[in-house]
Amino acid sequence: MHHFAYHNSKLYAEDVDLSQLAQQVGTPAYVYSQATLTRHFKVFSQAFQGLDALVCFAVKANSNRAVMALMASLGGGADIVSGGELTRALAAGVPAERIVYSGVGKSLAEMQAALEAGILMFNIESVQEMAVLNQVAADLGLKAPVSLRVNPDVDAQTHPKITTGLATNKFGLDVDLAFAQYQEAAKLDHLELKGVSCHIGSQLTQVAPFADALDRLGLLVAKLREAGIDLSLLDLGGGLGITYRDEEPPSPEEYAVALKDQVAAMNMRLVLEPGRVLVGNAGILLSRVLYTKDTPAKHFIVVDAAMNDLVRPSFYDSFHNIVPVDENQERPKVLADIVGPICETGDYLARDREIADVQRGDLIAVMSAGAYGFTMSSTYNSRPRAAEVMVNGDSWAVVRERETIEEVMRGESLPPWME
Ligand SMILES: *Cc1c(COP(=O)(O)O)cnc(C)c1O
Repeated sequence: MHHFAYHNSKLYAEDVDLSQLAQQVGTPAYVYSQATLTRHFKVFSQAFQGLDALVCFAVKANSNRAVMALMASLGGGADIVSGGELTRALAAGVPAERIVYSGVGKSLAEMQAALEAGILMFNIESVQEMAVLNQVAADLGLKAPVSLRVNPDVDAQTHPKITTGLATNKFGLDVDLAFAQYQEAAKLDHLELKGVSCHIGSQLTQVAPFADALDRLGLLVAKLREAGIDLSLLDLGGGLGITYRDEEPPSPEEYAVALKDQVAAMNMRLVLEPGRVLVGNAGILLSRVLYTKDTPAKHFIVVDAAMNDLVRPSFYDSFHNIVPVDENQERPKVLADIVGPICETGDYLARDREIADVQRGDLIAVMSAGAYGFTMSSTYNSRPRAAEVMVNGDSWAVVRERETIEEVMRGESLPPWME
């Protein structure tokens, strides 16, 4: 459920008329709905009521400060994957004791910063990382709270580029080797073994892979308890899918029901790392039609948003619904490729899409763009990144200014011999 809807044939974000917003902010622009974000967070966290559960928003899905601050104000923590995300999360007011740190390549400096901040735990992804973190903690005279990220070898049945829990993926420690690795970790004086974690993939549309992963973690936790290693945190990662087109992912409620009994029986504090499900359908990308053109093969709609703004269609073949902001005119439908100005054939938002016959100057909205939209954007073709706007009822505010070309070029210089 989200708060982008037509009123008198005009698309609104909550109570804000998007054509008026576009006139003031310009395009392309990301627009987020605070009511939608709030609702998604509440529905998700309430699904786990009755359990001791911490919802750590996966910051990489949407790192805008206003989005993170909202999640934090609702009781959420953060799942981070870099030192940059640590800085952002702390700046947005996420308490350090609600931050978990995942990722296969944490640097020394990143480990130091997170240790000094006092985060809840590091999700360790390799034997080498374990030793390095132990050393970094020793140098600081601290103990690092850790879980081992286990790769449970379950097929998330999603796009190969966003599957992370298969034996052939780079993530985590093999589930069969994890027992021995916990015993090794227990010998390291500057690690405090707190938990076990996994994250099997993104945009999952079934609960079975989550339940399978939980089963495997459950066996490991029981075996570790028998061996005297008693873990208190169970981090099941993120990955719950959303509806982009006609997917029917489990609701947060169904997802929670599938896991709850077993989690309760394990008597551990649950950590969840949802990203997409909280923000995906809470954001859109607003764009204006620059030109239309017909070739013998196709009808093209050239818009001012491109793959540098939203790379998901090019990168993952993702489907995003695209609608006209003004559906007033009785427009026929056309079959079109909706493309950006970037000099790449792969620069498209949709291909062979049936869409209202929009014309030069019309606005379109690319739906479900709140997750992995702005955060994956780049400045390719020297295109400054889009503005981001938060809507709340009939109010709105720019929460990230449109980048300028000067900002894009900042730090560049000629070597002395060329001056
Ligand atoms: C990306 C990621 C998430 C969030 O995944 P979603 O599919 O957006 O919920 C959670 N945890 C880890 C470790 C991740 O890498």
